[in-house]
Amino acid sequence: MDVDVDCLTISDVTIGDRWNETQLEHVFGTNFNVQELTSSSIDPNSCNHWIWNPHTRHHKISAFVYKHLNQNLTQSESWPGWQLLWKLNIAPRTKHFLWTVFHGRLSTSNFLFQLRLGPNNTCALCGLFPETIDHLFCQCIIAKHVWNYLSLKINTYIHFPIGFAVGSWLTDGNLSKHCASIIAATAWLIWKSHCDVIFRNAIINIPAIACRALSHVQEYTASNRCLAGHKLILNNFSCANELFLFSHSSPNPGCCAIAMIDSLMDELSALDVALHSVLDNRLNIKHIFVNTTTTLSILNHPNPVTTWRFNSQIANIRSLLEELGSSIHCTPKTWMLPAVNLATHGVNSSDINLFLFGRELPH
Ligand SMILES: [Zn+2]
Repeated sequence: MDVDVDCLTISDVTIGDRWNETQLEHVFGTNFNVQELTSSSIDPNSCNHWIWNPHTRHHKISAFVYKHLNQNLTQSESWPGWQLLWKLNIAPRTKHFLWTVFHGRLSTSNFLFQLRLGPNNTCALCGLFPETIDHLFCQCIIAKHVWNYLSLKINTYIHFPIGFAVGSWLTDGNLSKHCASIIAATAWLIWKSHCDVIFRNAIINIPAIACRALSHVQEYTASNRCLAGHKLILNNFSCANELFLFSHSSPNPGCCAIAMIDSLMDELSALDVALHSVLDNRLNIKHIFVNTTTTLSILNHPNPVTTWRFNSQIANIRSLLEELGSSIHCTPKTWMLPAVNLATHGVNSSDINLFLFGRELPH
């Protein structure tokens, strides 16, 4: 039987409140499992409705399915921690790690043993007790040392009276989002250190775990502000553009009011140094970003009357740009925070500056 799929309606494959099995077989072929449908009932009197809205032009279909499945959950089934987890200031891989922890699916020795995938080894960190999720992140003496060290660092008492995997530390509202993010990142780094102990024979470094967790959260808190910068790159460039150079100069510490002319000189010097480094390292960089329109305009249209002080520097930069075949763009400062932070770090670190001027060796 030929089926006109465009004109096919549900009533073509039903009889009253039952599925018409013969018709279904005509439409879908013999591989269609009619038995699967026997458990579902048909209500011929109610209106039809979409299971999920098909307007998916700007969305991934998976996001719609996920939303649909979640909206059907009753209140008791949906744990408020999921909403909070996705909003933490941590890397996506760290969120995914916690997702497996909260589902009790982290591949600890005990979990692998339950799946008959390995022996029930004792904890890789202390070697004293069975390696379960709650032992590893809560009761283990090494984990306790990490949390104590972190508590002192952030001046907040961190403890898990009813265990780590239940996630009450995330949902009970006693901790700020910042603290919860730090705990999440620390747990992730405890897990990574645990893997390094097993697979690389590494020695666990408690202060390093706490410090790396703090900088992880700091980095991901700041990166939210750089989203516009990410979008700039994503929307305007492709992988073929490869590397980008972001240039920024930071005023000397203590200088509150820096003269416009000096700041321009600093911007040009920073760009000059950066371009020389690109050439020295034989990097192929076609797009360079600065964050002041003045820098861009005097490079593109130097005015001998007003910019005579920088003539040699401008000529130098223009010839470097020509040699590299690069073009310069201007972006707001907030879109290039890593470059701005590096420049500020450089100003505060005399070692870096002395090294740059050839007067000091790097440590
Ligand atoms: Zn242990």
